[in-house]
Amino acid sequence: ANDNVGWRFDNSYARLPDYFYAPVHPMPVRAPRTVLLNHALAESLGLNLRALTADQAALLFAGNALPDTAQPVAQAYAGHQFGHFTMLGDGRAILLGEHLTPAGERFDIQFKGSGQTPFSRRGDGRAALAPMLREYIISEAMHALNIPTTRSLAVVTTGEPVVRETVLPGAILTRVASSHIRVGTFEYAAGQGDVKAIQILADYVIQRHYRALADADNPYLALLHQVIERQAALVAKWLLVGFIHGVMNTDNMSISGETIDYGPCAFMDAYDPHTVFSSIDRSGRYRFSNQPVMAQWNLARFAETLLPLIDPVPEKAVALAEEAIHAFPRIYQAQWLNGMRKKLGLFTEETEDAELIAALLAWMHERQTDYTNTFRALAAESLPEDAVFQDAGFVAWHTFWQARLARQSNSREMSLQLMQAHNPAVIPRNHRVEEALSAASEHGDYTILQQLLAALANPFADLPEYYHYRTPPAPSERVYQTFC
Ligand code: AMP
Ligand code: MG
Ligand code: MG
Repeated sequence: ANDNVGWRFDNSYARLPDYFYAPVHPMPVRAPRTVLLNHALAESLGLNLRALTADQAALLFAGNALPDTAQPVAQAYAGHQFGHFTMLGDGRAILLGEHLTPAGERFDIQFKGSGQTPFSRRGDGRAALAPMLREYIISEAMHALNIPTTRSLAVVTTGEPVVRETVLPGAILTRVASSHIRVGTFEYAAGQGDVKAIQILADYVIQRHYRALADADNPYLALLHQVIERQAALVAKWLLVGFIHGVMNTDNMSISGETIDYGPCAFMDAYDPHTVFSSIDRSGRYRFSNQPVMAQWNLARFAETLLPLIDPVPEKAVALAEEAIHAFPRIYQAQWLNGMRKKLGLFTEETEDAELIAALLAWMHERQTDYTNTFRALAAESLPEDAVFQDAGFVAWHTFWQARLARQSNSREMSLQLMQAHNPAVIPRNHRVEEALSAASEHGDYTILQQLLAALANPFADLPEYYHYRTPPAPSERVYQTFC
């Protein structure tokens, strides 16, 4: 049955030296059942999941019946977790291989929750249903928001319990990514004590993700610069939509520049730069406003692994790497400012724009207004009647903003269009996500989740039927903590 799906595997990662992975098979599960299939994603990959019966799809995405040309491996990696270096690796994930789309694009197909691997340490290699559904919802929402991300192709339940604080239904998520190579993969290679290992990985990454750099004078320094660019652009996009990743450890930072590893991530409702949701982030290391700082910290760990490749003279390598890392705040700020201008309908650049934006954010923080809805309100034909917009602080800001808009030649129509394309109406608000997860995971009812997914697929549309997803949580609905 798998033959009719259209799989075209070419497993280049498994051709790397064997210390980069361990061959391992998904552990078959007792009673697999498909609960989510992403047909739109499948079609974009040249896969036809409609060729499968429900039972066949369940066996496939549970790992009970693998595609012939899959070559399952667990990837080795290390990482800094909350600042501390650790040996890690895929403890509950298995890479089936790389699928080539009809257009020749290469994507990792990975199971998450498919059983123990040599890197499982004390873990059971399994995943609970709700967190896998959570990753599916939020990754697909991020994609619709035009933010680079891994995607979610399927979720199956296993028919087996997983034991956490309570006993929960088990599930497996099928994740699609440009690759799963992380800053932590480079840290692992650097730990091999052989420069050759880092060079092999760096050359592989250049071939796979940064092909234009192969001809650069110093491809490894160019690689560092490019990864910095992509991460700066990515984290700027996160802050522009109010996203908090929650666990920005170096093993959760993708070299390709995609958002990866959705754990206790969340979107902010009321604007507060100090927002933390993750139950495991006790010090607020990965709080909303600290994400660019942590991205730079992670990139410095990446740069360290590349030093011997950047220049044979250690002092020279360090100087070049430091220069690249020190450019991060400037690159990030430019990306963020560029995105903020779009959110405010600005086509031109003025030096004072940074102040205009800071003033709005300061007012939003002080009045604790909803981040998403405040920006979306600015993108409307006329401001909502809401009392908060009568506030003297806002009225003063609004006057400055209108004067700023008047200094560009673009029409009001053009500004509104730009704003409506960059200020989402619908985001995966925690209380709506939790509502969908508990109906699905506790009662087997997927209707709320399916409705949520439909709304999140069109985040920039302002449709009356999405109104439900636009309301911030009532005090009783507010989610204060999210869990992995
Ligand atoms: P994460 O916090 O999801 O980025 O995972 C950090 C590390 O813990 C990775 O090496 C995972 O593979 C591993 N891990 C997380 N959960 C489990 C589990 N249930 N069984 C085995 N390993 C796990
Ligand atoms: Mg091996
Ligand atoms: Mg991880």
